[in-house]
Amino acid sequence: MQRFNVAKFGGTSVANFDAMDRCANIINNNPETKLILISACSGVTNLLVNLARGVQDETKRNSIIQEISGIHNATIERFSEPHQVRQDINHITQQITQYAYTAVDKPSKQLTDQLVACGELISTYLLTQLMNERGLPVKRFDIRQVLLTDSNFGKAEPQIEQIEALAQKNLIPLLRDHIVVTQGFIGSDIAGHTTTLGRGGSDYSAALIAEAIKADGLEIWTDVPGMYTTDPRIVPQAEPIAEISFSEASEMANFGAKILHPSTLVPALRHNIPVFVGSSKFPEKGGTWIKKQVETCPSFRSLALRGNQTMVTLRSLDMFHAYGFLAKVFEVLAKHKVSVDLITTSEVSVSLTLDQTNTSGGAPQLPPLAREELEALCTVEVENNLSLVALIGNKMRDKKGYAKQVFGTLEDFNLRMICYGASPHNLCFLVEESVAKQAIQCLHKELFENV
Ligand code: ADP
Ligand code: ASP
Ligand code: MG
Repeated sequence: MQRFNVAKFGGTSVANFDAMDRCANIINNNPETKLILISACSGVTNLLVNLARGVQDETKRNSIIQEISGIHNATIERFSEPHQVRQDINHITQQITQYAYTAVDKPSKQLTDQLVACGELISTYLLTQLMNERGLPVKRFDIRQVLLTDSNFGKAEPQIEQIEALAQKNLIPLLRDHIVVTQGFIGSDIAGHTTTLGRGGSDYSAALIAEAIKADGLEIWTDVPGMYTTDPRIVPQAEPIAEISFSEASEMANFGAKILHPSTLVPALRHNIPVFVGSSKFPEKGGTWIKKQVETCPSFRSLALRGNQTMVTLRSLDMFHAYGFLAKVFEVLAKHKVSVDLITTSEVSVSLTLDQTNTSGGAPQLPPLAREELEALCTVEVENNLSLVALIGNKMRDKKGYAKQVFGTLEDFNLRMICYGASPHNLCFLVEESVAKQAIQCLHKELFENV
């Protein structure tokens, strides 16, 4: 049976003609790579998110649309046959203009998804044309015919069984004779409305589709040669990791390592599909293999940082030696669809952080109605401008003295909520956003550079 590889290329990997040409080389060099999912060209999603918030000033709105067109036109101008794609791309750009106008008076999550999806809809025209001109047997495919989700715009939930059935019907037949180029990040609900999987969601799309077509491998091509001991932008001394387990890599992604969308490894793990992460600019540098079984399981694997944290502290003397208080709190949160991330409790208070990965971005908000209902139960304090730092590793609780090493290094930092113990793989805490990178730098030096 023919082996299939799914490859995903992120925004910087498809930023312009030369970057896309490097993607085509990578695809061409591996005949097993049959399905390609890509992001919007670098910068485009951010511009579209701005438009979706509603830009009142017409001149400003038009200049954002011009900027988006400028990014795409720079690639189109390099084609031998630019007319092949110009009409389709102009049509989508006109839609952007119309949606952006609507967003001024009636911004909505549904409109945001329609608008931001245009980035991926255009970039796939560009890469398909480039590969066509290189003589590769390529077909552009609209992933909305397969990637069915619920209607939770901005962070839609994929419908796994239907996706598999739709992939069998609409996608697999194409793969027999073609390399298929399609969109990451976007999907469709049952009514045909465009949805998105949340910022950075192309990684997740690639894993979902790899699962649906039962691929033999998933490659995530980005702007760094693999996963590092921490974000190399924060610590230039960070080291690449050659091999890492699904659980460690999932923790990294969950705790903010932007290199992978937090849900990416769920489908890969379900079907035991090995994942490779590498740089599309320097493929020869190798990268990271994420697998079920790995040779080494070090106590300290990496440090991750997640910004934009919102901490909610609820205090009530009724909580003291009483039962049912937390149940009531969570009932209110569930009713208002507030997803809780971390939680710590004392006798009379509970602190929690709110989850945030949806497409609109920004710090997550406690909805005013939820706050009102909580205030009937207890006092409510909401704090912003916090970051979550996570230390990820293996069997940390069995390593004597490590807490002293970690907290000793951080003695000059004002630590907020600390979570430890529920998972053998991590210890995490909140700090003020302004000092978070410094906390990562100090810890990296102590735990990863001085060994
Ligand atoms: P893409 O557009 O290809 O999806 P992203 O910007 O989403 O790329 O993710 C790649 C970035 O993730 C890197 O440039 C790096 O700054 C950041 N990053 C965060 N944590 C890590 C880590 N532990 N290892 C490598 N890169 C990381
Ligand atoms: N283009 C989307 C974003 O910038 C999805 C992705 O790149 O993964 O968030
Ligand atoms: Mg990404």
